[in-house]
Amino acid sequence: MAAATGQLGVLDLSFRTALQRLDAAGRLLKVRSPVDPHLEIAGLAMQRDGDVAFLFERVKGHTMPVATSFAASPANVTTLFGCDVAGVRAAMERAISAPLPWETVSSGPAQEVVRLGADIDLGAQLPILTHTARDGGPYITAGCVIARDPDSGVHNASFHRLQLRGPNVLALKLDHGRHLRTMWEKAAARSEPLPIAIVIGGDWALTYAACSLGAMLPYDRDELEAASGLRGAPLALLPCRTVDLAVPHDSEIVIEGLLHTERFVDDEGPFIEVFGQYSEVGRCPLVEVTALTHRRDAIYYDVLGCEGVTLRKYILEAGILRELRQAVPIVRDVEMTRGGMYRFHLVIAVHKNSPLDEGLQRQAIFAAFAALKDLDLVIVVDDDIDIHNPTDVEYALAMRMEASKDLILMPGARCHEYVLVSDNGRRTKVGIDATVPFERHHEFLRASYAQVRLEDYDTTLAPGWSRPETPAPAGRE
Ligand code: MN
Repeated sequence: MAAATGQLGVLDLSFRTALQRLDAAGRLLKVRSPVDPHLEIAGLAMQRDGDVAFLFERVKGHTMPVATSFAASPANVTTLFGCDVAGVRAAMERAISAPLPWETVSSGPAQEVVRLGADIDLGAQLPILTHTARDGGPYITAGCVIARDPDSGVHNASFHRLQLRGPNVLALKLDHGRHLRTMWEKAAARSEPLPIAIVIGGDWALTYAACSLGAMLPYDRDELEAASGLRGAPLALLPCRTVDLAVPHDSEIVIEGLLHTERFVDDEGPFIEVFGQYSEVGRCPLVEVTALTHRRDAIYYDVLGCEGVTLRKYILEAGILRELRQAVPIVRDVEMTRGGMYRFHLVIAVHKNSPLDEGLQRQAIFAAFAALKDLDLVIVVDDDIDIHNPTDVEYALAMRMEASKDLILMPGARCHEYVLVSDNGRRTKVGIDATVPFERHHEFLRASYAQVRLEDYDTTLAPGWSRPETPAPAGRE
């Protein structure tokens, strides 16, 4: 356990290792009763959303078990990585700054079972969940889509929801601004479909690389190389059977296919968006599935509840921290908050060393807005505030913010298009300077107590406590 940041070394982030680590740590809730992929599994998993991981061992109508929520909580993530939060952050940092080539292998468990052509029936062969009664049918939510730019050869990996439309047909949600969409538009300009490989239950290094945004890994950065950089060693990739792409050799399930540029459905949805609201029904391109391959004992994986947003937390923090440190040297640490769905709200800790640093905390607010367009609220505090503790951040707002001076509004700025209160994707950003003026620091010192550990003492909460008998001093009887 617990590689320190400095000597992170090679990380084993394979799906099966993650499963074993979560189980060994008591963070995998195994459900042995038979459960239905239609509504029941999602309903059960949501009862511990943001907490433990699940393995549903017996799924009605299917032989494959279903797993969820491996990375739904910070405690699961550190368990899955086998290191502390600093190590997780360092892994994300090297995905961004230290990419590595991958390696190709000729065989692997991901192709123990291969189904082609008329043998493919996704709805029968995979326990695809229907999550809520209002959903437009069964959806694959953990599909990591790998594709290659037809010009540069650079690979993208990204998550897109996939609606089951037929035995070998899926509809793929393809929002504007996504790198996969750029590749798809290039293919459309040539009137060709875009070959893709969809990994379900793959190496977590690939999963986390795929959770980066363009602000961290721009279009010209290969996300298979980023995944190798994240794990600190080449990712072993297995060539696909029907498309010229490769996937982690030990993936649970792989769907190969063609993302069409001239075949659409107009009634995709409704479905719960990543931020918890239902989407409208809309138009999506179709995927024609050309192969389904999987392990003989494959586990189907599903992303639901808060895991969809939690997956981005650490890579966004690492990316923003990297940019802020370069732009504003007094920045010490950042925290994306759970309430802000690890996307919209950021807390920055700074350390002012001299009167000449006064004011830089405000530049940090604008640097953060520039680094990630989706940020709508940035709070900057001194580094004696624990930014990982929302109560302590609120303390800083209570004691150190004077709204007439410390509230900074930036109207009409670009935000995430899913924010419904925005004006077509434009919103007023809010910055809060909750730092103490440098010259007045001495007035704001927080009480500090003796560094003692209660665990080292003989204590009890049981009623009826009485002072333990002490032996009488010698020589008094
Ligand atoms: Mn990308």
